[in-house]
Amino acid sequence: MKKPAKAAPAGQAPAHAHDHKHCVEDALAAAERLCAAKDLRFTPLRRRVLELVWSSHKPVGAYALLDKLRNEDLGSAPPTIYRALDFLIENGLIHRIERMNAFIGCSHPGEAHRGFFLICGDCGNAEELDGDGLSEAITADAQRRGFAARDMTLEVTGLCADCRKTPA
Ligand SMILES: [Zn+2]
Ligand SMILES: [Zn+2]
Ligand SMILES: [Zn+2]
Repeated sequence: MKKPAKAAPAGQAPAHAHDHKHCVEDALAAAERLCAAKDLRFTPLRRRVLELVWSSHKPVGAYALLDKLRNEDLGSAPPTIYRALDFLIENGLIHRIERMNAFIGCSHPGEAHRGFFLICGDCGNAEELDGDGLSEAITADAQRRGFAARDMTLEVTGLCADCRKTPA
């Protein structure tokens, strides 16, 4: 897999140009609202971890996060950071991409839901599917086999719309 040079967070917008600052601002604002509504503490570390996960639309690995936080004075020993990640996952603010062992910001936080993703093998962006009806369909199919589904992941690999448009 080719790895493009590390771009500055703001510059690494996906192929489709957009002002990614808005994505980050929206995500942080949504998280603040959600935490206020649920009476949860949105600590500076939790906020910073969420911000880092949202630094692009590519999933971010735990080690990259640990690396970035190492020099920041937020009480960021690894266990604390893992707890912050757990908090963000439990509250539907980020998802874990299992196949990459990495994290991605949730594009529609607020209600508990499973993250179903389309992962582009070229640009590395992960796009969240609405997944309407998907988990119900899988749960029902599992039930017909007498299987009680508890959790599921769906990670579809391929080429995103923008990469399909861009000539190599
Ligand atoms: Zn964006
Ligand atoms: Zn989500
Ligand atoms: Zn792509």
